[in-house]
Amino acid sequence: MNFNELSYIHMKKCLNDPIFNIISQVGESEKTLVFVIGGFVRDVLLKRLSKDIDIVALGSGINIAEKVAQKLGPKVKVSIFKNFGTAMLRHGDYEIEFVGARKESYRQNSRKPIVENGTLEDDQNRRDFTINALAISLNKNDYGKLIDPFDGEQDLKDKLIRTPLNPDRTFSDDPLRMFRAIRFSSQLKFTIEEKTYKSISKNKERIKILSEERIVDELNKIILSPKPSIGFKALENTGLLGEFFPELQELKGVDKKNGKAHKDNFYHTMEVVDNVRNKTDNLWLLWAALLHDIAKPITKRYSEEVGWTFHGHEHIGAKMIPSIFKRLKLPLNEKMKYVQKLVQLHLRPIVLSQDIVTDSAVRRLLFDAGDEIDDLMLLCDADITSKNEYTVKEYLNNFKIVRKKLIEIEEKDALRNFQPPISGELIIETFNIKPCKTVGDIKNAIKEAILEGEIRNEYNEAYAFMIKKGQELGLKTIE
Ligand code: ATP
Ligand code: MG
Repeated sequence: MNFNELSYIHMKKCLNDPIFNIISQVGESEKTLVFVIGGFVRDVLLKRLSKDIDIVALGSGINIAEKVAQKLGPKVKVSIFKNFGTAMLRHGDYEIEFVGARKESYRQNSRKPIVENGTLEDDQNRRDFTINALAISLNKNDYGKLIDPFDGEQDLKDKLIRTPLNPDRTFSDDPLRMFRAIRFSSQLKFTIEEKTYKSISKNKERIKILSEERIVDELNKIILSPKPSIGFKALENTGLLGEFFPELQELKGVDKKNGKAHKDNFYHTMEVVDNVRNKTDNLWLLWAALLHDIAKPITKRYSEEVGWTFHGHEHIGAKMIPSIFKRLKLPLNEKMKYVQKLVQLHLRPIVLSQDIVTDSAVRRLLFDAGDEIDDLMLLCDADITSKNEYTVKEYLNNFKIVRKKLIEIEEKDALRNFQPPISGELIIETFNIKPCKTVGDIKNAIKEAILEGEIRNEYNEAYAFMIKKGQELGLKTIE
């Protein structure tokens, strides 16, 4: 069977859900034509799971929503957004939005259009892409008919993203659509049609009128798409990236001196993000992958002896994160701290595996990484992307040793959530001293002794060590 037949069978199956029949009956009795439109239709034809249904009515969408809710039962609530002329209700897993067909016209300085009532055609004209402009009739005389004015079905087959109208107009009207084009291409692995693609470059400066929240919403969808590099490379190629994320743009490029070149850190970062995406859908771990080398451009140095270096890029990178998060309106809470921690520590397992793996080095890593140790190891695995297969193998082998030791030592010493076995109060009491710097020094000495493996991470050994340390410092215990 070809795309068409399979898709139509699937579409019929979806339309068999009684909810569509109810909407159809309400449309009939209210003498209002009703259609399913947009993302839901696209996803049905692609056999993708879709949880939101958009219904467009040639009349009042709010009225249809209210009547549908009545039919569904007394407990069904309708949320009405008068300003937008829309209404929403939940039914099973579905979130269903109702809106009257509309015609839109735009002004230069805002992505909020002037809206007036319109025909189905007007409503399809205002949609962003041909694949998002498909509608299915829910009306008695042609129930289930696909209404496809822009050949969106063919574009679905050809895996093509294309604007229904002149792309310059579409993108200038609402620049968010440029991000949506790239986001869909990344999520669906579709190609952006050439004219549409060129128009993104041409209109890139229009993103000035967008809020950071909107941009980041799309960015997060790109990051979570199956292969995020598709989206990021398109953002870079079209010039959008430089407009809102110059730090990431700066990673691109290769410098050469005396025949020595460093790797292109943008493409390297892309590989790392794709690798991490293959292992997880943890958005913040993916952000850490995206930002792990962010300070490489500003720490880059060249010397005759060692060639290119990026000393301290992990520390500087961690320090850059709050301002990036603030600008992009990302959360400034524990999520950001998590990303900072991973960026800060991202070289540690690699450095460790280059050397003889000592227990104390592993203990320190466990102590510093805490609960993030598994995510850190995942990031580091993904970071090893050298083209030289031998070094990759060598690293990964040493990594195995590091992992084994991490497990052994964690079982023995439980350092992941290190709690000092001796409290400051106990030190004060034992030596009958006032709170002062010495208390901190003794606490620190105990921690160091545990990390160095001189004593185990437990009360009795730590207590004996404290007494010894106190005596060395000339303190007396009270009898
Ligand atoms: P997803 O739900 O995966 O984000 P979607 O295409 O369903 O994808 P929604 O934001 O749910 O996106 O929007 C539903 C429909 O509304 C789209 O399919 C499209 O037809 C239309 N639409 C949404 N945003 C825009 C926009 N900025 N410009 C034009 N049409 C839009
Ligand atoms: Mg949707």
